[in-house]
Amino acid sequence: MTNFAQFFASTAAAVVQLGTDAAAIARLDDDDLLAAQALLMAHREQSDTFIAWIVGEITKRSQRDTGYAGLAQRKGFGSPEALIQSVSQATRAEAARYVQLGTLMSDAAAPASASPTPTDPHDQASHTTTSQAPPWQVAIAGALSDTALSLNTAEAIRRGLGDVSPDVSEIALVAACEQLIAEASTLTVDQLLRRARVMRDALDEHGIAHREQERRDGRYLKRWIRPDGMYQGTFLLDPENGREVFSALDNIIAPRRGGPRFIDKAGRARAEVLIADPRTDAQLLADAFVEMIRLAVLADPGTLFGSRLPAVRVVVTEQTLCHAGGHGFIEGDDQSVSRETIDRHVCNAGMIGIKFDDTGQCVNVGRAHRLFTERQRIALGVRDGGCMFGDCSRPPSYCEAHHIDQWHRDHGSTNVADGILLCRHHHMLAHNNNWQIMRKHSRYWLKPPRSEDPNQTLRPLSSKSPIMRESQR
Ligand SMILES: [Zn+2]
Ligand SMILES: [Zn+2]
Repeated sequence: MTNFAQFFASTAAAVVQLGTDAAAIARLDDDDLLAAQALLMAHREQSDTFIAWIVGEITKRSQRDTGYAGLAQRKGFGSPEALIQSVSQATRAEAARYVQLGTLMSDAAAPASASPTPTDPHDQASHTTTSQAPPWQVAIAGALSDTALSLNTAEAIRRGLGDVSPDVSEIALVAACEQLIAEASTLTVDQLLRRARVMRDALDEHGIAHREQERRDGRYLKRWIRPDGMYQGTFLLDPENGREVFSALDNIIAPRRGGPRFIDKAGRARAEVLIADPRTDAQLLADAFVEMIRLAVLADPGTLFGSRLPAVRVVVTEQTLCHAGGHGFIEGDDQSVSRETIDRHVCNAGMIGIKFDDTGQCVNVGRAHRLFTERQRIALGVRDGGCMFGDCSRPPSYCEAHHIDQWHRDHGSTNVADGILLCRHHHMLAHNNNWQIMRKHSRYWLKPPRSEDPNQTLRPLSSKSPIMRESQR
C-alpha cells in the first residue's frame, strides 16, 4: 500500500508554495497553473483511493453476518452506503462505488485462508487466488492499492470487462486486465472503458448476444404529469433502437450543427430558415417530437393507435365562447387553457355544441360545425403547398387550417377562400402574438403586431406549392 501520509504531506507543501488565495493563483504563469491543476487532480485521485480503503473497512465491519452488531446497523443505518451518505455529501451512486471498490480492495488484501475460492473447471490458475473476487478483479484492486489506477480508471476497467460469460478463461481475463492497467495512464476514462469493452467482446464473442439481449431488456419509456401541469418523460433505449431515434432527431437540427451541406438551392434555403428560427435546439426537438407523434397518428390505419384516433379536445362553455376573454379546459386535464388556445382549436378543428339542462343532464349533442371537410383540406394542401407563414417549409401534412375570420365574427359557412394552412408553431404565433392573416380577393397578407413592426406593413403571403407558382407565372 502506498504511503498516503507522505503523498498528502508533499501536496500540502506544494500548495503552500503556490499560495492559497485568488491573487496568488492569478500570478501563476501558464505552466505553473497547469502543473498545479495536475497536482491537485492527482491529490483528489489519491484521496478517492484512500476513502475507498476506509469505506472497504467500514463495509467489512457492517457485514450482514455481524447482524445488529454491524457498524452501520449500530449507527442506525440499513447499509454501509446509507451510513457513508449520512457523513458526507456523496450521492447514492458515489457511495455505492466506494463500497464496491473498497470491498474489492479489502477482499484482495485478505489472507489466503479467509475465504475459499470457487473452483473454475476451465482454469487451473483460479486455485491460487486468495479471495472471493475473481482473479482479474483482484488485479484491479492491487493496481488501485499501488495507485497505478485511480478510482475512476479502476471502475472503467471493471465495468468494461464485467459481465463476461462464466466459461471465459481467467488467465486470459487477467492478461487483458493487466494490459488495460498498463494503458490506463495514456487513455481518458471513456477511452479506457471503450477499450475494455472491445477486449471483452474479443475474449467472449458468444457472450455478445446475451449482453445485447440484456441491454434490450433494460429499455423503457416512462411518463408522468408533474404537479405544475407539465408533461414529462424519460426513456432508455438499446443501441440499435437508440441510434434510429437519435438519427431522426439529429437530422432535424443538423443544419444548426454545421452539416450536412446542401448542394441544392431548396435544401440550403431550408437550412437557413432553421438557423434563423428563434427557438432553441431543445424547443425545436420537443416540437418535432410532437409533430412526429401527430404524423404517425395520421398515418396509422387504425392498428398501433387503435380505431379511435387520439385527439386533444378543449371544453368550454357557450357563455365563454360568446364573449371575449375567459378560459377553457383540455379534456382529461384540470389545467385551464387561455382564450387564444380555445380560438386556435375552434379555428382548426371546429366544434360540437352539447346542451345540458338545469340538472346537468345532457339533452342535445349538436353537429360538428365550422370545420373544413376532407375535400376542402385537400384543396388547401394543393393551393398552399404547406405552411404559408414567411419562409416556413412545413408540408401540408404538418399543418393546421387557420380560418381568417374570427369564429365569433363569422357565423357563415366554411369557405376554402377563408382558410390558409399554418404549421402548429406559426398557428400559435398567429393566435397568441397577434400576427394577423388577411385576405384581399384571392391574395393573402400577413399583418405583423406593433411590437414587431410599428408601421404594421402588410407582407404578402405566397403559396409554397410549385404547381400553383408555375400556373400563376
Ligand atoms: Zn387559426
Ligand atoms: Zn410554419
